[in-house]
Amino acid sequence: MLPRCLTSPPRDMVSRAIYREIREGRGIGGKNYVHLDMTHLGKDVLDKKLPDITEFVRTYMGVEPLTQPVPIQPTAHYAMGGIPTDVDGRVVIDEKNTPMPGLYAAGEAACVSVHGANRLGTNSLVDILVFGRRGGRHAAKFIQENDWAPLPAKPEEPARAMVSQVLNSTGKERAADIRDNLQDEMMDKASVFRDAAGLTAMREKLRKLRDRYRQVKAEDRGLRYNTELLEVIELGCMLDLADVLVESALARQESRGGHSREDFPKRDDANWLKHTLAYQSPKGVELKFKPVVITKFQPMERKY
Ligand SMILES: Cc1cc2nc3c(=O)[nH]c(=O)nc-3n(C[C@H](O)[C@H](O)[C@H](O)COP(=O)(O)OP(=O)(O)OC[C@H]3O[C@@H](n4cnc5c(N)ncnc54)[C@H](O)[C@@H]3O)c2cc1C
Repeated sequence: MLPRCLTSPPRDMVSRAIYREIREGRGIGGKNYVHLDMTHLGKDVLDKKLPDITEFVRTYMGVEPLTQPVPIQPTAHYAMGGIPTDVDGRVVIDEKNTPMPGLYAAGEAACVSVHGANRLGTNSLVDILVFGRRGGRHAAKFIQENDWAPLPAKPEEPARAMVSQVLNSTGKERAADIRDNLQDEMMDKASVFRDAAGLTAMREKLRKLRDRYRQVKAEDRGLRYNTELLEVIELGCMLDLADVLVESALARQESRGGHSREDFPKRDDANWLKHTLAYQSPKGVELKFKPVVITKFQPMERKY
């Protein structure tokens, strides 16, 4: 069980502490979880301040958090990074922040760059409200001032071809199996702890998973409400994102916020105070870097 004093540091530190216990065989009963003890909080606090999470625990785990410890393990909580935008939600496409006219992103999918390498608790909703509003207002103005952009011939053709390929596949792979494997491997090699050996092994693993993905088939061949088809397409996006994550994490030879390299445990502002930009190219993921603009607050070492 975690000592209570460990509940005050930020989430990335707590996640690493939990994961270390599990990895070194000290999970409860040797399994892949530890216990969170909330019994000291009492009914009033749990009911008033943590009603959702306590209900999840009761419903999905059959555990009573008032009297029993809750099994927990680290999981993905938030994507720091995402589609780069300016403060008006316009998607930018390069190191010079050139906007792509008419394309906007907001919310967790976007990266306005307000969170750095470690978002503070509750700031996602602030980001979404502030920049979602700014993006929406800018988009509304843009529509009034601009005409439709000319479309290439048959713009729907790539999407049609992709759907048709999945529906007519003679492969034997199931999306759910590949996704499970992807999740396990990413958790093991590219999550709260990272190093060159694990990330390089993951890069290789991703090549193999992509080969399997080329053989993926959907049992459901229907064209209406085909959720299996959606899962296959989503899995392709997950593989793309996993590639970006692994290549970016491998390149960044330092530790910063949620990115913790065991082989480079220190933050290195001299070389790495910069954003990573990832581009898809025929050779795979290509990385470029963009300087961080520092205005009022100088970056400082995190100390506890
Ligand atoms: C356990 C947990 C606790 C959190 N606690 C906090 C907190 O306390 N404070 C805080 O600020 N943040 C918190 N966060 C983060 C925050 O909840 C998220 O960053 C935020 O909800 C993201 O909102 P969003 O609208 O950008 O994306 P989402 O809420 O993910 O919404 C995206 C929507 O798009 C839909 N969608 C996806 N694909 C398609 C498609 N192809 N077509 C149509 N629709 C599609 C999805 O179904 C979904 O409804 C927490 C996150 C987690 C996981």
